[in-house]
Amino acid sequence: MNIWNYYIDEERTAELNIPEVLVVAGKGDRDHFYGVLKRNRNYRRCPRCGSVESRNQGNLQRSFLDAIPRDDDAVVITVTVEYRKSKCMSPECGCVYYQDIPFAVPYARTTRRLDDAIVRMVLRGGLSYTESSKLLENKISRQVVGQIFHRRLRELEADIDEGTVWFNKELNTDWFFQLNYQKIRMFRQR
Ligand SMILES: [Zn+2]
Repeated sequence: MNIWNYYIDEERTAELNIPEVLVVAGKGDRDHFYGVLKRNRNYRRCPRCGSVESRNQGNLQRSFLDAIPRDDDAVVITVTVEYRKSKCMSPECGCVYYQDIPFAVPYARTTRRLDDAIVRMVLRGGLSYTESSKLLENKISRQVVGQIFHRRLRELEADIDEGTVWFNKELNTDWFFQLNYQKIRMFRQR
C-alpha cells in the first residue's frame, strides 16, 4: 500500500494502533514511528467558507511522545506524523488550513492515550508525579506529568469528592495500566 509516495509498513501500523496513522516503511526506528495521517473526508472542505477548491501547500511534521504494549511491558515511543497544509482557492477567502490531528489535544506533545495512561498511573497506580516520570523513562518531567494530569482531569470532567474521582468520560488506556500494574507494584515495593 502506498500513500504520498511512501510504502506503508502494515505490521508497524498495527503495532502502533492509532487508527488515523499509517506507519511508513524504512523510516524512524524500533521506538520511533514515522507515519502519515490518513485523509479525513471533512478535510476536502475549507473550514472557513466550505469551498472544495484548494491548493496543497506541502506537508508538515509533528512529533508526540506515546506508549505502546510490547513483550508484556509498555514502552515509551515517539510518533512523528506528516500532515497536509492547504490553501483555500476561493478568491474572497484564501484561508490556510491543516489536517486535524485527532489523537492529541491541540499544542500537546503527548498523545491522548499517553495522557490517559498518566491519569491512571497517578489515580489507580497511586504513583507520584516523580514516580510516573521515572516509569516514563524520564522522557516527561515531573512538572509536565503534573500539568498533563490536571489538564486531562479537566477534559474528562472529573468530579473529585473526598479523595474519590468520578469520571464523566471514558479513559481509553486499560491496556497500559494493566501492563504496568506489576511493574508499578514492584517499583513501589523496592
Ligand atoms: Zn475558504
